[in-house]
Amino acid sequence: MRVFIAGFGTETNAFVPFPTGRRAFAAYGVFRGDATRHPPAPFSGPLHVWRREAEARSWTVVEGLLTFAAPSGVTVRGVYEGFRDELLADIRQALPLDIVLLNLHGAMVADGYDDCEGDILARVRAIVGSATVVGAELDLHCHLSEAMIRNATAIVIYKEYPHIDPMERAAELFTICADAAEGRVRPVMARYDCRMMGSYRTPVEPMKSFVARMKALEGKDGILSVSLAHGFAFADVEDVGTRTLVVSDGDAGKAEALAARLGQELFAQRHSYVTQFLTPDEALDRAAAHSEGTVVLADRADNPGSGAPGDSTFLLRRILERGAGPTLFGVMWDPMAFQIAEEAGEGPTLDMRLGGKSGKVSGDPVDLRVTVRGIARNVQQPYGPVMSPLGDIAWLSSELVDIVVNTYRTQTFHPDAFRALGIDPARYRLIVVKSAQHFYNGFAPLAKETLYVTTPGAAEPAYARLPYTKRKTPFWPKVEDPFR
Ligand SMILES: [Zn+2]
Repeated sequence: MRVFIAGFGTETNAFVPFPTGRRAFAAYGVFRGDATRHPPAPFSGPLHVWRREAEARSWTVVEGLLTFAAPSGVTVRGVYEGFRDELLADIRQALPLDIVLLNLHGAMVADGYDDCEGDILARVRAIVGSATVVGAELDLHCHLSEAMIRNATAIVIYKEYPHIDPMERAAELFTICADAAEGRVRPVMARYDCRMMGSYRTPVEPMKSFVARMKALEGKDGILSVSLAHGFAFADVEDVGTRTLVVSDGDAGKAEALAARLGQELFAQRHSYVTQFLTPDEALDRAAAHSEGTVVLADRADNPGSGAPGDSTFLLRRILERGAGPTLFGVMWDPMAFQIAEEAGEGPTLDMRLGGKSGKVSGDPVDLRVTVRGIARNVQQPYGPVMSPLGDIAWLSSELVDIVVNTYRTQTFHPDAFRALGIDPARYRLIVVKSAQHFYNGFAPLAKETLYVTTPGAAEPAYARLPYTKRKTPFWPKVEDPFR
């Protein structure tokens, strides 16, 4: 068997005021056939799994392009087309192929292309023909389109948020595709539009049990795989929203029925399944009710993992106005503030203008007198089983609020992001992270309570108000019953 492996992706936020271009992919790294010669990183992990599985069977592996861009605004057309065509050329050169395995986040929008992954899979299918097995792995924050389903043999989507399972899902996709190539199974896919938009947290109930149920349905009664595409709400595309996906062995009716049953179940329980968001004052009141311990606030709307800038000040300003704390706020993306702090060195107290530099979605900058307490360079933080870059970071301390600024736009995944500066996060009453959910597993052990806060911003979870123009069917919470 000849197996081709590659990956290309990003997650596009339509409300971010800057595009995703070549720099963003270069920052992650552009690997031309050699990603698996480097340690597994976020996004490259599945390729390691696929290579290992194929080589264990003594199959031939041809590795193509692997690149990824941190979530941000719409991808520049020429950059998308350039990498896409490079990937397609890799495939053409590798022919004949029995299996093509692609890691494709599933929420990339480029100028002129609302469904980049549907476009890629259609072109791949046209090149390899109908006999080759084409498998795709997607992030659960994807837009599961008809073109993806039509052109892939099988799609497997992450089940966990935080995403701790891309490698497990990669192994499952490999098994399905290998079995299909050897004629043991005939994957058939069906998706179901739940007609809802929401944020779902899988480490806690009731989502935890929903994930367990999806897993329990797999591998029996002709069901090969069950996924839930949570969707990525901050995109104006036709397929935005939550969908179930079922891969059955040769039985389209069975796949359709199960996808519908699970989707309808999720919809019926929607009020308990989705995350409840608090206003800054509601969250700060609730945090103040704890007489001891640390409360973690997730600044959801400014999550760089959803493409937001990571320098919004709405929540910071409210914390300063209320004198809430002691508070640890960060990381906040502010390379200019870092540069000034670095120039001053550790020790001095100076007036600084912090955050609010990226546009309206970030609010106004905050002017604050701070002491530079620490500086660290090239810092990494744990992201599940791998390490992820934070860039250079500085600890800026004011009376009640300590702010950590950094140079690499990313969310805070883990308390070790702060420990690199000698900060003990547990000694603060409040910690604010710019993250929607990936912080959760790292911070849960030190959090008395975790609260999800909504502010204005590029990833504001105001699903009923988002200005969609392309979705054709109604959805909750914009309408109470979109099936009526
Ligand atoms: Zn995701």
